Amino acid sequence: MYSKLKQLKWCILGGDKRDAHFAHSLLKCDYDVKVCGVPQIDELPGRAMVNDLEDAVKDADVLVCPVTGTHPQGVLRKSTVPIDLTAVLSRTSKLKVLVIGTANEAVSKAAALAGALVVESMRDDELAILNSIPSAEGAIQIAMENTDFTIHGSASIVLGMGRTGLTLASTLLSMHSNVSIAARKRSDLARGRALGFSPIHFDDLACELPVFDLIFNTVPSLVLDAKLMRVVKKTAVIIDLASPPGGTDFESAKAEGIKAILAPGLPGLVAPRTAGEILASVIPRLVHESLESLS
Ligand code: NAP
Repeated sequence: MYSKLKQLKWCILGGDKRDAHFAHSLLKCDYDVKVCGVPQIDELPGRAMVNDLEDAVKDADVLVCPVTGTHPQGVLRKSTVPIDLTAVLSRTSKLKVLVIGTANEAVSKAAALAGALVVESMRDDELAILNSIPSAEGAIQIAMENTDFTIHGSASIVLGMGRTGLTLASTLLSMHSNVSIAARKRSDLARGRALGFSPIHFDDLACELPVFDLIFNTVPSLVLDAKLMRVVKKTAVIIDLASPPGGTDFESAKAEGIKAILAPGLPGLVAPRTAGEILASVIPRLVHESLESLS
């Protein structure tokens, strides 16, 4: 599939072990891949690893950066060496496509100057839904490591009924937690009820929150603010999956003596092989579609 993509030069720039597994999956399918700023794994042949950044990117047609994206100024959040993506983009000569989780303004501008199309991989439903599986397992692993009670029988709530929230709530339910979901859309609350969760509107959260042992946030906006933190059980654990800075007021949690954990990049941490295979099953299609859009 997508045999033309194998004629292109790919560079996987930065990331964690999931990106190393992603590179390995592409190499197994005869893609022409260089890797830089990614941790070594046994499966990855040394010939693919390039230490010199310039060398890695200079003739790349496709540049793939981590789903975790960059800091506001354009430095990759995940890399074994510091990489300023905006500077890298200015040094590419034939780049066609940049793939990145989400591109901020600095990255989008630099890519446009380099004449490259930008593909934001985390906007793709297939990738985000598949990624939600290791994310949910990772969140539950963190919950188990930070509590002295079972998931079974616990009172848990998942804030946000999007791609990650829905999978997480379903996984908790399958472990016999008493699962509530919070959403702002009535249709999401209805869907939640249909699936067996107790639905709670965000407007009612202050009344409902005190009963929960486990609070998982997937909303990428400040939803667990100082006011709500005052009603959270002192023994509760908050696990925030939303992209940094998360949706929790961590200062307030600390002041109230509540354990709150920001947990980014779970797929790469808890299931790098699966997460890498997921990337390899989706990213070639994204690149193909973006190149097709030019013709
Ligand atoms: P998504 O499908 O867009 O879901 C986001 C959910 O948040 C939606 O239900 C949305 O509801 C809700 N929401 C957004 N703003 C809100 C607000 N102000 N108040 C109430 N609800 C609001 O996104 P996703 O793919 O599930 O990802 C969610 C977050 O998790 C992202 O930040 C993503 O980067 C992160 N993530 C982290 C990991 C990890 O390893 N930690 C893994 C995967 C994803 P509406 O439909 O009403 O807007």
